[in-house]
Amino acid sequence: MSRTYIVHYGELGLKGRNRITFERQLVNNISRAFGDLEDVTVSRFHSYLMVTCPAALRASEVEARLSRLPGIAYFAPVTVTAPKVELIRAAAVAMAEDIISPATRFRIRTTRGDKRFPLTSPEVDREVGAQVQRVTGAPVDLSEPDVTLAIQIYEEAAYLFARRIPGIGGLPLGSSGRVLVLFSGGIDSPVAAHLIMKRGCTVDFVHFHLLRGRERIRGAKIVSMARQVLAPHRASGRLYMVSAAPFEAAMAPLDSRVATVVFRRFIVRAAAHLAAQRKTPALVTGESVGQVASQTLRNINVIARATKLPILRPLVGMDKQEIISLAKEVGTYELSIQPYQDPCSLHARRPATHARLRAVRDVEAQIAADAVLQETLAHHVEEIRISFEGR
Ligand code: ATP
Ligand code: MG
Repeated sequence: MSRTYIVHYGELGLKGRNRITFERQLVNNISRAFGDLEDVTVSRFHSYLMVTCPAALRASEVEARLSRLPGIAYFAPVTVTAPKVELIRAAAVAMAEDIISPATRFRIRTTRGDKRFPLTSPEVDREVGAQVQRVTGAPVDLSEPDVTLAIQIYEEAAYLFARRIPGIGGLPLGSSGRVLVLFSGGIDSPVAAHLIMKRGCTVDFVHFHLLRGRERIRGAKIVSMARQVLAPHRASGRLYMVSAAPFEAAMAPLDSRVATVVFRRFIVRAAAHLAAQRKTPALVTGESVGQVASQTLRNINVIARATKLPILRPLVGMDKQEIISLAKEVGTYELSIQPYQDPCSLHARRPATHARLRAVRDVEAQIAADAVLQETLAHHVEEIRISFEGR
């Protein structure tokens, strides 16, 4: 016995020739996401994908995994029978007994991929509908049903499904290129990573820290957070752990109100260099307008001028509450709120909300920011590869 789902991809349908590539990408992504389990197969199936798992695998486990993969509009558990009208009728009744009560308005919607099937689609609708009505006592409602029981008849088999479970939508991971996420220990940037992955981008991460020693660096909560973001996809990614110590040492003698902005420009420039190594065309941050002192439009502007790469900000219009509830869904919230000394926490007590580019450049000249950057990139980057190989 096995458990079968059809998977319907939403937006993919729009994209002409790319469609085949996207479909293949989604097939690969689903296979990878179930890669730790045995005997799960994913294939293309008419205008859907089909996922087959051993019956021993719990439905809730399969559904939880599918509902986190970008590019899926909805999925549905299906009953598969031989394409014979009496078997289809029996399967429909068995399904109806589970999900249709006397108060449920339902309709049957049949499509035939095999035009040689002896009944037309409306004939199947009527025949099966009458039987379901007899058994359940439920009324048929063609215009506003609570349940639509779909029957799709093909040459090899008939497929029945009624319970459509929403996916997260978006585009399959890997269909939109790679980005480098500026990843802090806070609540926002993991959510930014999640949202950009939902648009199909693969991600690497870069984090600036004040940790000492390889073990502390490799054991930092940041590593777990990056793993947590990648885990639903079992996707691999790189996490660059960059020490902010040289920068902090250079800044220490100064008591500047623009220190936070200078730091942000510094990490953006360092990130742009790391991005170039993998020909990564964009950076991502967890900034949203107005949230904290460094995120006024003026400061965002001054920070953005530190690089030619576009900086994507998936959270730009979101409220903190929306971000927090997403962080809980992604599963990073608990780690985010654990105490952690972020380099930012050292900076000015009264940060400038309207940093002037000239003042910022003066500070950069005073600390010899270019030299600090070269030193940092040459000696203070630890690259961690995150992957989920094996079962
Ligand atoms: P977060 O919760 O993501 O830390 P935040 O609300 O604390 O965001 P800021 O501290 O102003 O906001 O950071 C804004 C963005 O700058 C972060 O979302 C992240 O993309 C980047 N950033 C901040 N600190 C670091 C860091 N130490 N390493 C890497 N990126 C960082
Ligand atoms: Mg932060």
